Amino acid sequence: MDELVLIVDDDAGIKNLMHEFLTRSGFNSITASSAEEAIELIKSNHVNVAITDILLPGKDGLQLTDIMTQNHDIDVIVMTGYSGEYSYEEAINKGASDLIFKPFRFEELLLRLKKVLKNRQLVKDRARVLGKLEKLAITDGLTKLYNLRHFYNQLEVEIGRCSRYGHSLALLLLDIDNFKVYNDTYGHLEGDKVLIRLSQIIKSCLRTMDSAYRYGGEEFTVILPETKGEEAKNVANRIRTAVESERFFPEPDKVVTITISIGLTEYFENEQLSTFIKRADQAMYNSKAKGRNRISSLFIEPASNQNDPNPDKPEITSHK
Ligand code: GH3
Ligand code: MG
Ligand code: MG
Repeated sequence: MDELVLIVDDDAGIKNLMHEFLTRSGFNSITASSAEEAIELIKSNHVNVAITDILLPGKDGLQLTDIMTQNHDIDVIVMTGYSGEYSYEEAINKGASDLIFKPFRFEELLLRLKKVLKNRQLVKDRARVLGKLEKLAITDGLTKLYNLRHFYNQLEVEIGRCSRYGHSLALLLLDIDNFKVYNDTYGHLEGDKVLIRLSQIIKSCLRTMDSAYRYGGEEFTVILPETKGEEAKNVANRIRTAVESERFFPEPDKVVTITISIGLTEYFENEQLSTFIKRADQAMYNSKAKGRNRISSLFIEPASNQNDPNPDKPEITSHK
């Protein structure tokens, strides 16, 4: 078995007998005579389960249990000869997985050890499945980018952060140009390949704190935390030019290029999430209206709005 069991008992006779019994039962085990020695041992050994006596010189077994379960991924079985002094509840509250009263038969200890290991495996399996499900729930099946649900959640998180710390926050909305024609000409499957490849390209152009999402069929969003307009334009332009330089081969001897139109905006203090997204969308449509394959920015300058008779009038800029 791969699991390593640590036996902690100041009674050398019991400790050695347990070590022998576990070895005969197919377990790897190491031993310590005190909590202090055990703490040293777990620093350099990957211990999975510890079986510790409660009464030890120095720190007692419950204190040791507390340390092992708080700071390490170790299950602890506590042994006690004083059933009146320590309750099951006390041991469990300290994080113990089980308690066994001395004197016990080794066979009983073995059963409890196996039960603890089985439970340990179940907890690990459940965590792995949950992790996979959580990832699936926020991932777009085709492109493997984050999905729309995660976009809204993350945007809310970033807006919260932005309001709390006064950070800036930029948003890009990207839409493939004339994608219907591509699909109609080469088929939906070839279109899907473009979506997959563009997603990879978008991701490759981002900085570590940025995140990309599939917003809809052939639309993507990018959240750029702590980013002001100019820097966001750089990221957007990196994506735009990378997409433009990519070559697609939907048919033998057919080379096709794809372009995207991008809308860019910055978060304006206290505004609604939907208003923020709508502005990015409007900016993207401005790129379409101006001929596609470009980036348009749409900003609202709060200071300049104060004496403005038309405070909603946005500043619009467009550039390739
Ligand atoms: P525009 O430049 O104005 O954005 O033109 P467009 O043709 O890209 O825009 P339109 O909204 O008319 O068409 C979007 C097309 O995107 C329609 C559909 O064929 C395609 N599309 C949407 N989702 C998917 C998808 O999941 N897979 C594939 N292959 N195509 C998709
Ligand atoms: Mg579209
Ligand atoms: Mg489109």
